[in-house]
Amino acid sequence: MTTKIIEVQNLQKKYGENVVLKDINENVEKGQVICVIGPSGSGKSTFLRCLNVLEKPTSGKVLFEGHELTNISEKQLDKLREKMGMVFQSFNLFPNMNVLENIKLAPMKVKGVSEQEAEKKALELLEKVGLKDKGQQYPTSMSGGQQQRVAIARALAMDPEVMLFDEPTSALDPEMVGEVLKVMRDLADSGMTMVVVTHEMGFAKEVADQIWFMADGYVQEVGKPDEFFANPKSERAKDFLNKIL
Ligand code: ADP
Ligand code: MG
Repeated sequence: MTTKIIEVQNLQKKYGENVVLKDINENVEKGQVICVIGPSGSGKSTFLRCLNVLEKPTSGKVLFEGHELTNISEKQLDKLREKMGMVFQSFNLFPNMNVLENIKLAPMKVKGVSEQEAEKKALELLEKVGLKDKGQQYPTSMSGGQQQRVAIARALAMDPEVMLFDEPTSALDPEMVGEVLKVMRDLADSGMTMVVVTHEMGFAKEVADQIWFMADGYVQEVGKPDEFFANPKSERAKDFLNKIL
């Protein structure tokens, strides 16, 4: 049995005259890992931000666990957004807080979890991302790869139902990409539902259940990684893969 966790219907997003997303209709099933790939400027980040309505769609619907995010109050939206973790290219950690404080903040402030409970969970998560002993450090004293793993732990601290990643390794030095992808792979293996915008084709090939290829404001092609990479159907996708592979 499959359950739709995110549904996107006739999604359109314009910035002024610029129609960035023209008409997107896709669903994410519970437990699925979707990798969104496509040329720069094709609307991948905009699309991801529409999924949790950080960016308000111009028209169309986004449903999360059956709730229409595009048609509810800000308060309800905030509540549902708690279940959608997001990780950005730039790690966005709070520089004036140590790692543990960064991870504990939202569960305590937003969910009313006790400090003790938040701390316990934060330590578990730090272990999970391979940073067990780094709780007292400040983000500025850590490498990019470590900071991004903290950012992932921080998102996970809210017990999200789905994790959205926008090019989480693009800002990293090459030698740090692997450690972040490993954490993401473990997360995928644990059954987390994930939508990952990425240029890491190796990761996409191995970890994705589906590739969504975006170009010109549409999801042009949806396929299993093996099929998509071996035999892309659209000219747009062939052209893209020729340029990058
Ligand atoms: P990608 O992530 O695939 O590189 P983006 O979603 O960042 O693409 O951008 C797609 C298009 O939308 C670009 O033309 C970009 O200039 C435009 N765009 C993105 N965000 C904004 C914004 N906040 N205001 C105006 N235009 C934007
Ligand atoms: Mg982008």
